[in-house]
Amino acid sequence: RSIGSMLRHWAGERPDAPAVAVEGVAEHTFASWLDASSRLAGGLAAHGVGPGGRVGFIGKNAVTWAEVLAAASFRRAAAIPFNWRLSADETTAVLADADVAVLVVEAELLPLLGRSVPEDGAARVLLPGGDERPYDAWLAEQDAVPALEPEPDDIAFLIYTSGTSGRPKGVELPNRAIAANLAAPAPWDIAEGHVVMVPAPIFHLSGTGWIFYCLGLGATSLYVLDIRPDVVLGVFAGDRVDHALTVPAVVQSLVQHPDAAERSYPRLRTLIYGGSPMSPTVADAARELFDCDLIQSYGMTETCGPITFLGPDDHRRGGERLASAGVAVPGVELGVFDPATGERCPVGETGEVWTRSALIMAGYRNQPGELSAVLREDGWFRTGDAGYQDADGYLFLCDRVKDMIVSGGENIYPVEVENVLMTHPDVRDVAVIGVPDERWGETVKAVVIPGDRRPDPAELVAHCRERLAHYKCPTSVDLVEALPRNPSGKLLKRELRAPYWAGRS
Ligand code: AMP
Repeated sequence: RSIGSMLRHWAGERPDAPAVAVEGVAEHTFASWLDASSRLAGGLAAHGVGPGGRVGFIGKNAVTWAEVLAAASFRRAAAIPFNWRLSADETTAVLADADVAVLVVEAELLPLLGRSVPEDGAARVLLPGGDERPYDAWLAEQDAVPALEPEPDDIAFLIYTSGTSGRPKGVELPNRAIAANLAAPAPWDIAEGHVVMVPAPIFHLSGTGWIFYCLGLGATSLYVLDIRPDVVLGVFAGDRVDHALTVPAVVQSLVQHPDAAERSYPRLRTLIYGGSPMSPTVADAARELFDCDLIQSYGMTETCGPITFLGPDDHRRGGERLASAGVAVPGVELGVFDPATGERCPVGETGEVWTRSALIMAGYRNQPGELSAVLREDGWFRTGDAGYQDADGYLFLCDRVKDMIVSGGENIYPVEVENVLMTHPDVRDVAVIGVPDERWGETVKAVVIPGDRRPDPAELVAHCRERLAHYKCPTSVDLVEALPRNPSGKLLKRELRAPYWAGRS
């Protein structure tokens, strides 16, 4: 299966049904999506994009992105949704790595490429050689070309994630992983004609994954441009959505919203969340408010979707399993291993979570060394998450082997922020850690040893904001005289984090 072949199927079966929509902005039926992406495929072919090529998108509108995704599939090329929250410097770096032939960019984001915002406010297509054309007008001139026959190992799309090394990594996801994701049994009943609300950015696996997941089932994926609680609540209450997915921080903001209790949500059946467990208080409040099933999923970009689920019954039963990520998806191997010896850990003992299935990525673009560090020859993928399993196979994630902060569903690698802070003349040394935050789960803190001059924390934050996506920037800065290091000089992050996390998990 490929995105292109699924689209051709549903454009035949349900041509006039809504396929992908952005609330109040745009919508494609299966037929109009097929038409636009077939023409885009023609435009790509005319500019030499074929098997193994790459096409990019920078923007928020999931409908335009869906065109790019399907058109790339028709050409057996890979589509890339770039993170529009990155700074101009960060964007330059990922674009250089991705080396796309054609790039579609929303008007307001052109400054990320050093270009000005066009007066008509319309998206642009950047063609090989740097030619810039209004996207819709250009698309209307293109002639459709027949789709190429897809292969399971074709890279359907790439998602860039920040890496432990600070260098972004393009996770290459092939058609076979998409097919495996769709074939995996899931604890929801999403079916043809259902509407799934996806308040997640399309540059995340969750955002784009749901476009093809819904497409595979003939369901509608519904996006919002701004993931604000009042907008999401309004759609939930509008009797239009059967299922929705989100992160615990958003669920918390929904249940705490002053209008939440005054509305009713008769159609909403399932709320799917991931990224972290949900506190029992928020889970209970959400079930009571929405009167729907809760499902937690755990997965990562590299696994092209969920590898465990905590299902509705477990949520109803409550208790300590609410803190777990659930059990392995059928067909997905999952285990906890000692990363040093490769031995399986006994029940209850913490180790690294490994997984093996057809869902695993093909590789990291241009970084084969990074792939061999995480994918063993026997097919086991090292997730970098630490956890243990109970006697029934329930997985409890306790910490990360990888040094990552998750703030409001965005992953942040401290080294990236540390590298930027080290370029400030008044920073002698710095460690960046995640500290607890009511709203975002975790937030970024910089612990800084000042240079000769004592820097103003606000100035350090401003220094970061000029160079990094805003969600990566510290929200607080502590100035200290020394950082805890072991005798060989390695920074002891756990020790540094401990006082901030005292009494919490
Ligand atoms: P990403 O590649 O951006 O999807 O991030 C994947 C990482 O998010 C995982 O490796 C985990 O560290 C974390 N994560 C995802 N889902 C969960 C969950 N249900 N519980 C705890 N951590 C999670």
